[in-house]
Amino acid sequence: MTALRIDFLHRGTPRSEAYAIAGWAASTAADPHCRGRLDPRGGYRWSLLDAGGGVLASRGYSTLLEEWQSTVVGHDEGVHGEFRETHCVPWVAGALLRVERRGARHRFETLFEQRLPAAAEVPPVPAPPPRTLRWLHGDGTLRPILFVSEGYTADEGEVFFDRARHAAGLLMAASPFAEQRDRLAVAALHVPSPASGIPAEPGEAVAGTAFGTHYGTFGMARYMVAEDLHALHRAVDGIGHVTLILLANSTVYGGSGIFNSNASLAAHMDEADFAYVLPHELGHSLGGLGDEYFGKEITYSTDPDEAGEAWEPNVSALDAAGRPKWAAQIDAGMPVPSPWRHGDFLALLASGTPAAEQRAQVADLLGSEPLRGRVGAFEGARYVPKGMYRPEVDCRMFSKTAPRLCAVCQQAMVEVLDEVVRQA
Ligand SMILES: [Zn+2]
Repeated sequence: MTALRIDFLHRGTPRSEAYAIAGWAASTAADPHCRGRLDPRGGYRWSLLDAGGGVLASRGYSTLLEEWQSTVVGHDEGVHGEFRETHCVPWVAGALLRVERRGARHRFETLFEQRLPAAAEVPPVPAPPPRTLRWLHGDGTLRPILFVSEGYTADEGEVFFDRARHAAGLLMAASPFAEQRDRLAVAALHVPSPASGIPAEPGEAVAGTAFGTHYGTFGMARYMVAEDLHALHRAVDGIGHVTLILLANSTVYGGSGIFNSNASLAAHMDEADFAYVLPHELGHSLGGLGDEYFGKEITYSTDPDEAGEAWEPNVSALDAAGRPKWAAQIDAGMPVPSPWRHGDFLALLASGTPAAEQRAQVADLLGSEPLRGRVGAFEGARYVPKGMYRPEVDCRMFSKTAPRLCAVCQQAMVEVLDEVVRQA
């Protein structure tokens, strides 16, 4: 099916927001991002409605604007943020596109509506920039997980492809991807950047990188994001993909993952960090998984009481019966809430021990927990030490020392992969 690629400007103040269309183009990409599906995850969703109000397609996603808003809580309304987003929707001329945000108690509130244009109103597909595609696992008959270069010049293509090959190997060796390897493919796309490397600050990104990627987002050194998602989607147009992962040309620790948008990470950071950050950010961007950690510096603030239960499948409050949302995955006899050395862990985080030493101490503490490896409900998750629960005592969404994603996170990822495969 032909799709319509829509470039949006998503603008807001601390307490308000609006969408505007910056441009649109026909897209030849037959990928799930351009077909849409019903998806209960994400802080936002778009829906495509027929004349009778029936839902033709829908997709949940998350945005940088919602994160930005939570960093400017308490600022006056004179502060403005603007972010670029691109969404691909099935192109049904005359159908109504509705964009909504998840509000209190998970009620969706409409932000934007637009009827899709007829073909004559849309300019022809612009040519993508120069690019080189290589298959790293599987072949062209399968839709790939697509690594995209950022901050690699025309001469640095082989450096990028080497790291992409390494990253593909890490992914395909670990659950849940290892079990899915026969129905998944991985490819890498080199899109040359004008300059080599990734800037440390937002303002420096404009001239040097293909997609405006920089560190220091929202004042946080390690938070690296791509700002120009319009350029990113232009660059990958026509290459169907399961998800996009930017491999950024830097040795400095950093990355990000935004649900149904993209993940990014520094390709040349410390190897142990790389092996952790890759599945962690992909957990966010592909699985819609939430952070299970708490008690250290965070990207943005959240208030679980304000929103009620979190939408992420791997973090949960307890319901009236004292059960988390993944209760069906808990074995009989497992205590809920599940005991662990919560107090010792908090004391360790507060001890001021140097990072490397603290990492070893965390690994020791979590590694010796009697209920390690079992699904229950362990208190402390999604940035808060009390009132929110995670499924296992350790997980790649919780600590850097976890050897794997927990069973609930893996199940949540497989649900997404099942959806992607069904649409193949
Ligand atoms: Zn988990």
